[in-house]
Amino acid sequence: MKLEKDNLKCYCGGSATPSEIRMEGLKLRGWKCKECGETYLHPDDSMRISAIRKLKSKPFEATVAKAGNSFAIRIQKEAAVALALKIGEKIKFTIEGPKNANISTL
Ligand SMILES: [Zn+2]
Repeated sequence: MKLEKDNLKCYCGGSATPSEIRMEGLKLRGWKCKECGETYLHPDDSMRISAIRKLKSKPFEATVAKAGNSFAIRIQKEAAVALALKIGEKIKFTIEGPKNANISTL
């Protein structure tokens, strides 16, 4: 996570400096005002947290595909964006039962 370089002008007239903002277990980019304590989220991270809130607990269908001698699971792009997945990234996969599995980012 790379913070912005420039300060932001706060509505109170003060100066908000780039800072890390923790929200729902995530480290997000943003700015925090030294004068009044107001925080501003980076627009990209704001969109991501909105996507997570919108998609949370929504069941997705995924397609099992063949990839060499392995299986690949294709997931919808909006789910990948909400999880900020990158091609080639490792994720954690846990078998919960005969018909249940859990995936999580590392
Ligand atoms: Zn302020």
